[in-house]
Amino acid sequence: AAAAMMVGLGACSTSRGGGASGEGSKIEKGATIGISMPTKSEERWNKDGNNLKAKLEKAGYKVILSFADDKPAQQNADIENMVNNSAKVVVVASKDGTAVGPAVEKAKEAGAKVIAYDRLIMNTKAVDYYATFQLEQVGVLEANYIIDKLGLKNGAKGPFNIELFAGSADDNNAKYFFKGAWDLLQPYFKSGVLVNPSNHGGGLNADSTVDASWQKIAVESWKTANAQKDMESILDSTYAQGQKLDAVLSPYDGISQGIINAIQQKRPDMKPNTDTWPVITGQDAMEIAVANIAKGLQGETVFKDVNKLAEAVYQMVVEIAEGKEVSGLNGSFNNGQIDVKSKLLDPVSITKDNLSDLVKANYVSQEKFDKLT
Ligand code: BGC
Repeated sequence: AAAAMMVGLGACSTSRGGGASGEGSKIEKGATIGISMPTKSEERWNKDGNNLKAKLEKAGYKVILSFADDKPAQQNADIENMVNNSAKVVVVASKDGTAVGPAVEKAKEAGAKVIAYDRLIMNTKAVDYYATFQLEQVGVLEANYIIDKLGLKNGAKGPFNIELFAGSADDNNAKYFFKGAWDLLQPYFKSGVLVNPSNHGGGLNADSTVDASWQKIAVESWKTANAQKDMESILDSTYAQGQKLDAVLSPYDGISQGIINAIQQKRPDMKPNTDTWPVITGQDAMEIAVANIAKGLQGETVFKDVNKLAEAVYQMVVEIAEGKEVSGLNGSFNNGQIDVKSKLLDPVSITKDNLSDLVKANYVSQEKFDKLT
């Protein structure tokens, strides 16, 4: 499913304004807008869906908000239902970026505009716009945290044992996250300072390319339980005799939680806030990660302010509704068929030092934060 996305990797060009699809017909207030989210079981999509719904309803639109329970067939049925209810715009965060193609094609045929939300919709011409966060930058922030914590820029020689995980293979984002990290970590593999002793997934070595390796270390459906299983087998195969584990590249807080569970079960001698505990990254600033960072179980998460993403997509819908060209686009991603004009926001690295920035950003309430930390 993910094969065709190699086209255009790294081809995230910068462009301003112009060139987006031209003046269209106007959408009247009170029209229906569809929002299709992949799942309720991951914290962020609930926020994403509800934020956008609230903004659109406040502006007078009718909103159909669906969650697809991580099932591509369900998502396609959800989108068809939106089309049947004459949705004028459908906003889709796909469970499987390729499998959702036929459903958005039907939406386009029915005259709706299609916005890919956070995750690109692959291999179809039926996508008008894409809004997400700078994808590779997520991996850059994660890798830089590891590089920093291991002192690699200060000449630490290691060799350091690192284990690497990528996100779900049906999610185009996962490859870019890994690419951002791998581009920075690979030179340390080349110089022998970083090693991946488990050979997890069939081997990442100094010569591995992103295309050839990322799906081998993917965690299916981003699930905590799957990550835990993978990490347990890594610990059994490679770290059962007290070997040191220095770092784990994790692309998502739910995966980090699986990794932490596995370590706590298999290696009770490893203790957070001591040299025995590995550097572990993450993404999403989930509540569990806030707690884990406060406890020293996780070192870092990448915060993507989904309030800002919802605002960006809301603005797109408003401009589409007014028959205007969408403004403020600052990039484009190839989905295997077309270059999709994109709005790219900036992710932020969060560690113990700036954890409370999540409160300042209104992402976590002070009360919740106090409970978690
Ligand atoms: C999103 C991440 C999220 C992951 C798992 C990705 O597509 O960009 O923010 O952590 O899916 O839900």
